[in-house]
Amino acid sequence: MTRIPELLAAGPTLSFEFSAPRDPEGIARLERTLSRLAPLRPAFMSVTYGAGGATRGPTREWVARIRDQYGDEYGIEAMPHLTCVAHTRGEVGAIVDRYAADGIDNLLALRGDLPQGSDELPSGAFRYARELAAFVRERAQMAIGVAAHPEGHPLAASPSADLDHQAAKIDAADFAITQFFFDAAHYERFVEALADRGVETPIIAGIMPPTNVAGIARMSSLNGTAFPAEIRERLERAGDDPAARRAIGVEVAVKLGEQLLAAGAPGLHIYTMNYSAAAREIAQSLGWR
Ligand code: FAD
Repeated sequence: MTRIPELLAAGPTLSFEFSAPRDPEGIARLERTLSRLAPLRPAFMSVTYGAGGATRGPTREWVARIRDQYGDEYGIEAMPHLTCVAHTRGEVGAIVDRYAADGIDNLLALRGDLPQGSDELPSGAFRYARELAAFVRERAQMAIGVAAHPEGHPLAASPSADLDHQAAKIDAADFAITQFFFDAAHYERFVEALADRGVETPIIAGIMPPTNVAGIARMSSLNGTAFPAEIRERLERAGDDPAARRAIGVEVAVKLGEQLLAAGAPGLHIYTMNYSAAAREIAQSLGWR
């Protein structure tokens, strides 16, 4: 298997993000989605991991499936996400050791968000993603990715404190993947601010096609992402017509992807929400066939 920094060096890379489903309908949909997106030969596919007991999905199983079914045929890396905020060190150590034994070469190290209603951390838990990344670095030979927040992280004490924390974390990582955003200027300013601090870690740009007003509004307010009124109004005008909403989401995402590639982004990471159609159209329009 290949480390993502090597893929980025030969980039720009395309990658897709999925979440691990549990119910039969979700499982069937993700299987279809993977089979439709794999022939685009993305550099890697990643699988999310929830931060609390009930939200933790079968991430390891889906990572193994992606690798076993599509890894050799299409040269796709499979990367698990790992959140630390509600785990003990012993639990995290056991998870990392299993991934190492599985031959996993890349891992996205995240803090995660506590499940609603729980504010008690198990003893010995990590507080920040940076601590998890350092723990994994000590324990395994994996390339370590971290999350980046170009518009700032909503829980930060101040924008400048956040930038300092993000810079330190990203500097110690092998690559970063951003939260979604809708204006390429956010990415460019963020990368410049990191460069001013001497950070040159590759920052893969996360792209979410806006196809659904309620979903994007909810996620944007949680993440601190600006949801431009122009995109919102276009989606509202499209009403209940899923094809029209998808066309808007694809158009917005393709334009953003073009701007990001022109600005030197080393890779584009598409948040698929486990659906293939928009993600495939975006990738194809950007030249991945
Ligand atoms: P951190 O880097 O730990 O930062 C969290 C906050 O703490 C920030 O406000 C930061 O400024 C502050 N901070 C950091 N260090 C310090 C310090 N030393 N002192 C004081 N403050 C500090 N969530 C999931 O649950 N599962 C997933 O699979 C998942 N995948 C994601 C993938 C990507 C690409 C992205 C961008 C996000 C993902 N998330 C996921 C969401 C993520 O868990 C949340 O955004 C979370 O709130 C922050 O995670 P982080 O790793 O960036 O945290």
